[in-house]
Amino acid sequence: MKIYRLLAFILLTFCCLSTIAEAQSGDQILDGIGETDLIARYRLDVDAKDWSRNNLHALVKGADAAFIKDKKFGNVLSLSGKEKSFVSIPAETLTGVESLSICGWVFLQDDRQGQVIFDMGTDTKSHFSVSPAGNGSKGGLITQISTAAGTKHKTLAKALPIGQWSHIAIILDIPSKSVSYYLNGKKAATSDEVVLDLSKLFGNNMGQNYFSIGRPLATDGPYLNAKLHDVRIYRIPLNPRQVANIYGKDENRVNERKEPQDVFQEFPADRPQLFNEYLTGVDNVQVETKVGHLPRLPRYLKGRYRDGVDGPMVRVIWPAPKDNRTVLEVGQYTITGKIPGSSIAPTATVTIKGKDKGAAPEQNLEAFGLGEVTLDTDTHGHSSKFIENRDKFITTLAKTNPDDFLYMFRNAFGQQQPAGSKPLGVWDSQETKLRGHATGHYLTAIAQAYASTGYDRTLQSNFAEKMAHMVNTLFELSQMSGKPTSSGNGHTADPTAVPVGPGKASYDSDLSEEGIRTDFWNWGEGFISAYPPDQFIMLEQGAKYGGQKDQVWAPYYTLHKILAGLMDIYEVSGNEKALEVAKDMGYWVAARLGKLPTETLISMWNTYIAGEFGGMNEALSRLYRITNEPQYLEAAKLFDNITVFYGNSDHIHGLAKNVDTFRGLHANQHIPQIMGTLEMYRNTKSAPYYHIADNFWHMATNDYMYSIGGVAGARTPANAECFTSEPATLYKNGFSAGGQNETCATYNMLKLSRNLFLFHQDPAYMDYYERGLYNHILASVAENSPANTYHVPLRPGSIKQFGNPEMKGFTCCNGTAIESSTKLQNSIYFKSADDKSLYVNLFIPSTLKWKNQNVTIVQATAFPKEDHTRLTIQGKGTFDLKVRVPQWATKGMTIKINGKDEKIKAVPGSYATISRKWKNGDTIDLRIPFQFHLEPVMDQQNLASLFYGPILLAAQEDEPRKEWRKVTLNAKNIGQSISGDPEKLNFTINGVTYKPFYDTYGRHSVYLDVSLE
Ligand SMILES: [Zn+2]
Repeated sequence: MKIYRLLAFILLTFCCLSTIAEAQSGDQILDGIGETDLIARYRLDVDAKDWSRNNLHALVKGADAAFIKDKKFGNVLSLSGKEKSFVSIPAETLTGVESLSICGWVFLQDDRQGQVIFDMGTDTKSHFSVSPAGNGSKGGLITQISTAAGTKHKTLAKALPIGQWSHIAIILDIPSKSVSYYLNGKKAATSDEVVLDLSKLFGNNMGQNYFSIGRPLATDGPYLNAKLHDVRIYRIPLNPRQVANIYGKDENRVNERKEPQDVFQEFPADRPQLFNEYLTGVDNVQVETKVGHLPRLPRYLKGRYRDGVDGPMVRVIWPAPKDNRTVLEVGQYTITGKIPGSSIAPTATVTIKGKDKGAAPEQNLEAFGLGEVTLDTDTHGHSSKFIENRDKFITTLAKTNPDDFLYMFRNAFGQQQPAGSKPLGVWDSQETKLRGHATGHYLTAIAQAYASTGYDRTLQSNFAEKMAHMVNTLFELSQMSGKPTSSGNGHTADPTAVPVGPGKASYDSDLSEEGIRTDFWNWGEGFISAYPPDQFIMLEQGAKYGGQKDQVWAPYYTLHKILAGLMDIYEVSGNEKALEVAKDMGYWVAARLGKLPTETLISMWNTYIAGEFGGMNEALSRLYRITNEPQYLEAAKLFDNITVFYGNSDHIHGLAKNVDTFRGLHANQHIPQIMGTLEMYRNTKSAPYYHIADNFWHMATNDYMYSIGGVAGARTPANAECFTSEPATLYKNGFSAGGQNETCATYNMLKLSRNLFLFHQDPAYMDYYERGLYNHILASVAENSPANTYHVPLRPGSIKQFGNPEMKGFTCCNGTAIESSTKLQNSIYFKSADDKSLYVNLFIPSTLKWKNQNVTIVQATAFPKEDHTRLTIQGKGTFDLKVRVPQWATKGMTIKINGKDEKIKAVPGSYATISRKWKNGDTIDLRIPFQFHLEPVMDQQNLASLFYGPILLAAQEDEPRKEWRKVTLNAKNIGQSISGDPEKLNFTINGVTYKPFYDTYGRHSVYLDVSLE
């Protein structure tokens, strides 16, 4: 117990000091570097468990390894060097590392030659080791790298002292080509020109790799004789300040998030920033707003350029206040904006008019069911990228054993496992507090797969069986909750009266085989989850995020996936039991949360990760829509994230009034909540809910977006999963070292865009959808399997890392991936609720069966490998065809009907409407000429992504890079500097190949340092 008290103390101390505590409190045990940069942390005090969320638990082996008392650190691990004792670290630790830092405390007890502190790699020919005493005649600390190709790198430093604690850190900085060694927080040795690719040093197949503390890969060497404490492994090259901070062991400063800690390429202030160099002026603007609402300022203004350059719209960065003080009364004021790389300062005159009347649009569109739209091969008979990705997922999903996804549910309820079922790994393993989350995604994925596989009856019945099996089991379990067993023990039916577990003094999140409570009869009626109810209760009592027994992960996040999955199954198959399980658990949640004071709810939902609730507001509001039972809508309202939505409990501002309250927050913790507000609006018609979603979308896509459509990846705060600490500062505060663009966040942004489009047919939503779909979602899947990305790193020379090829261990992004790729056809077409209009949003070979109009529409194209598409009408009917003219279509769109040119207005960023009485066989040919264009980073415009039409082109790189790739393009026509084959989407600039990012599997540069001439 003592150790837990100590942990609680540490946690408490740094929560109070966290500099972003005003927004989100309750951060995890960290070191100011960023959770996503940490691979594993072994404190080695009582066990070798990994403290990070990655669950890369190590094993202590050998007869005389022991955790012993120590004056300096309390408890440490002792290895004697005699009985072949060592620490075995899971090989997965080395998966996809681009750079590597390892640090820890060592108390060396003798200086025998050949001992290793760390040794990792595939075999003695390809490995990386750190030896304390050295070999040969020269003593010292040696870091040694040998590669299979025969290269060797050695860094030699002064020998470690015997009989005292030393803190060592070894940093393999691959882009900088250096290996550095730090002793007690100070750099002690460096080797430069170390050309290395870790993916080649360590095998790609994790089974090949080996990683230990204390045991040499060469089996005849001596074992380590030392004491060890707090070993940490990072996926980034730590910088001197970070190492010094870790050595200073200021654990109470762990969440200091004042400024970026990692070194990043800087550009001089006088560096020309793309077209802004030619800028002579921009138009000022007039904007209107209502009292209380910050104005929505245009981020792009028309510019005037010199020297015959026809530059693009000019990005303006406006001040972004944290409240609405400037707009509390009717009147007028002026704001001055900035243009990066230019001294021109445009102004916006804001007129504040009367009160907001609370108007918001009605939902006037409907989506087609997944079974109504089928993906087709392209006009050359080839599978589209959409079909390829769909099939990778559908085939693998069809082979999964649903009992694996039920394993932890049965485990929680103390039930026998059926023969052949195996637990999932990663975030669903025995002791992971998020277990069950993959099951929720799985329910949705099999529901969507069932609805989407009308083209293959065998597959469809496979998924039908899986759905029935999953629901039957979950139903049986949920029926057991809160009811007496046949043996007649007592029970607790009331969800608000759940007692602590048998033999326990308090609620805890212990999910170990020995420690988990399984007294389901005490859990309140209707309870369903892959763990007991304790995590929900502990969150109410203020528990924070972390791996200890008095900490939680994100209980409501997990529950949201399960409820959404059950409702998805209900909606595609009419399975009443699925709805029953969701309703019963909805009742459980309503009962518990309904008793909490608002202040407690505010504090819960502001707690970092622990309070992450996915889209619980969406799920419960949807449950209300399906059942018409008001208790669910009331419960959904309890998930209002009041601070973010309304500023505070008086609703003074917040997103509802266009104030950016989400800067610096965890992206994927919040995007689903925003989606929830739209479902709340749908069911309550309360306009602020709509404004929250709409305002958020505009800010997120304008002020936080990378060119692939991702919105997360902050350097400040140091967390790859957060929005930057200030809007429109992607270069200053974004591009975090640990990766950017968490894929699940883009999955959610697409869902939000699509849902907003149902209310307001602004083509910008679908422009974003197209961007994210092609350049992130399609680009997130491995070449030959459904393995997929977590972060998609966009620093120069990055490489995508794909995980979960066999669907056996899921992170959040692996979870959303099985959803994304089983519904790729869902936003090509929409129809108006009155069936009088059809929206064609995306140019993807597909067939739509529009039942209410009794017509079939076939879209035949090889887009984006060609710039045209043909729609053929089968059947007849009178309706408006509304075709999206993308924003990128700067040369407009030509439309032919039955081969004849139609004079229809087709302005980029609008819908072209064709009203007609359609007859069988009518064809509509659309041609949308592609152009090259650059999309600069808003606050560092010389850094830009190259697009061809909607397709992001990535420079194909051979090796990791420190600096952005430099490119010079013709200022008057950038296309003149680019050669290549548009039909293959394969281009060349100065001998370097550019391919679609979705077709890029090796190293890439998505952002280029562009000069114009
Ligand atoms: Zn994710």
